[in-house]
Formats: sequence, structure tokens, C-alpha cells
Amino acid sequence: MTTTELGLPALRAGGAAPRDPARPDDPRLVDRFGRVATDLRISLTDRCNLRCTYCMPAEGLPWMPRAEQLTDAELVRLITIAVRDLGVHELRFTGGEPLLRRGLEDVITASAALTPRPDISLTTNGIGLARRAAALAAAGVNRLNVSLDTLRPERFAEITRRDRLGDVLDGMAAAREAGLSPVKINTVLLRGVNDDEAVDLLRFAVDHRYELRFIEQMPLDAQHGWERAEMVTAGEILAALRTAFTLTADGHERGAAPAERWLVDGGPAAVGVIASVTRPFCGACDRTRLTADGQVRSCLFARGETDLRALVRGGAADTEIADVWRTAMWGKLAGHGIDEPGFLQPDRPMSAIGG
Ligand code: SAM
Ligand code: SF4
Repeated sequence: MTTTELGLPALRAGGAAPRDPARPDDPRLVDRFGRVATDLRISLTDRCNLRCTYCMPAEGLPWMPRAEQLTDAELVRLITIAVRDLGVHELRFTGGEPLLRRGLEDVITASAALTPRPDISLTTNGIGLARRAAALAAAGVNRLNVSLDTLRPERFAEITRRDRLGDVLDGMAAAREAGLSPVKINTVLLRGVNDDEAVDLLRFAVDHRYELRFIEQMPLDAQHGWERAEMVTAGEILAALRTAFTLTADGHERGAAPAERWLVDGGPAAVGVIASVTRPFCGACDRTRLTADGQVRSCLFARGETDLRALVRGGAADTEIADVWRTAMWGKLAGHGIDEPGFLQPDRPMSAIGG
């Protein structure tokens, strides 16, 4: 099997080696495999008002103390450096639950005022979205993903441990009304829990003009309960969908987009599958990540972090912070290695890294 089949990049071919092998000679966020990170994922908080069983335990987690969290001003400063000096042109705000972050609209407004204007998106569980969608759109959000794993109220309560399906559906409708289209739905299928709902969820999405994307479950839960054999694979999901729909590849190059897309019954409706485990896309990865406490991560699965908060609070200049960010990304590994025998789950769970 070749590195390409594993979705891994080959070491940068040709080109002059950097003067200092520990750092790139490029103002952007490049790595030793020639990938350029232009998409910044920002975790605004590790807190959440749901307790999805595949994400965190019923009692929640030891939340990050407020003093450790970046202030809005610190966060906007780092976002400014990323956009102005490091070539980042996409921002995705996530968490934890990003709608729980006070000042969210202010951070978005400040981000939208940057030059060049970045594309701004949000991943949310949808609780409280109904009353905030219009303000978020006005602040500058361009696109929005809402997580929804089931259409059945009892099942929703079982998976998220909260009886809030109605709020999520209302939030999605409000987002569409606010012009944040297409509203994308993120769905994780769990074996024996909701894996019989793939067809119903797609029918719902097509009927409501939402774009559904299934995400393979990854080993990022706080409880370390993920098992490879239990995971519902992209292959299984597509087979289930094909019992009711005709799916045809949408014909676009996947590029750095994690989702492979299919047109549903000839289009224009489409469905995506993010096969992070069975068809990894590390070779085309264009992401850099910032946690709510100001740590840069080169990958969801990185085992190390780089502390930008210490620099910000220690009085470092923007140029120094940008250099440290570049060096952190230069060390990005070729791939996440989930399917390899020596794989180690990162110390932070998904909710604290930012999904
Ligand atoms: N709370 C927000 C939400 O649920 O949309 C944003 C954060 S959440 C961590 C982001 C996405 O990650 C959600 O769509 C969620 O379903 C997904 N997710 C959480 N844990 C996951 C896991 N172990 N594997 C795959 N996706 C996961
Ligand atoms: Fe909260 Fe999102 Fe995790 Fe569910 S997946 S517990 S909504 S952070």
C-alpha cells in the first residue's frame, strides 16, 4: 500500500531546503510535506449544554478555569495574526458549544472586519440558535453546521442526555431563514443506537434543503470508549443510503474538503461522508487549530501543543507569535495514524480541542 492510498502526503519534493531545518522559509503556515494551513479551527469554550454519549460523560468534564481561557481581546489578536500575517482565510468557530461563549457575536464581528475578509463558519449543537441565528448572520457568519444524530425525540434524549430535539430543529430552521445556507447537518452514526436512521435523516435533509454529512466516529471521546470494530464505516453508510437513493459522485475534486460528496437522485441535493478513519484525508489537510486556552495544535490528533497564550500574556510582539505559530505547523506529522497499531489518543477530548 502506498502513502497516497493511506491519504498521507509525501515529503515535499524539489524546492530549496529551508535555511533552518526547524523552521520554514515561508510566511505562511507550511509543513515539511508541502501542505499549507489556511483553515483555522477555533475552540471558543470546552463547555457544553449537551452530553453526547460518544463525546463526554453524563457528569460533564472538569471545565477549563475562566482565567485560563483567552479573553475576547486576546483571541481577536491571535485571529488577526493568523489572517493578516499567516495566510489563514477560513475561520471555523467551534467547541465545546460555541454558542455558550459570551462575546461570540463580538469576536465574529471583529473577525469579519479583517482584511482580507476571512470566510467565517460555526459548528453548533443548535441549542439557542433559534433566537441567535439572525444576529450571528449580521455579525458575519457565512455558513453554519448543526449536529443532529437522530430525528426521534426519545433517541435524541438518549444520545445527548437532554430532551432538546425541538430546539435543535427550530435552530436549523432559523439559520436557514437568516440566509445561512446551505445549513449543513453533521451526523455521527452509532452501531445499535441510530445506525438504522441514515435513510430517514437524508430524506429529512433533502426535504428541508439542508445538506447532510455523516462523520465516522473517531477516538476522541473523553471516556476512551471508541472501538474500531464498533464504528459505523463510510462503506456501511453509503450502502444503507443506496437502498433508498441513487448516489452519484458530485464530480468535484475533493481537495482539502474532508467530505466526499454525492448527488442524491441526480441532484441538486447532495450528501457528504467524512471518512476520517477508513479514508483519511491527511495528505490534503489545510487546518491549524487553536484551543480556548490559546494552544496551537497542528492536528486533531496531535500529541503536542504550542502555547501562544503565554506569549500573548508575556508581552510578545505579533512577529514573534507568528514565528512560533509557523514553527508549530512546520512540525505537523504526515497523518493521524488512527488505523496504526501504535496509535495513541490525544490527551484532550474532542470537546476541548474543537471538533
Ligand atoms: N458542540 C458542537 C456540536 O456538537 O456541533 C461543536 C463541537 S462538536 C465536538 C463538533 C462535531 O464533532 C459534532 O458534529 C459532533 O457530532 C462531532 N463529534 C464529537 N465527538 C466525535 C467523535 N468522537 N467522532 C466523530 N465526531 C465527533
Ligand atoms: Fe457537546 Fe458537541 Fe460534544 Fe455533543 S458533540 S457533547 S454537543 S461538544
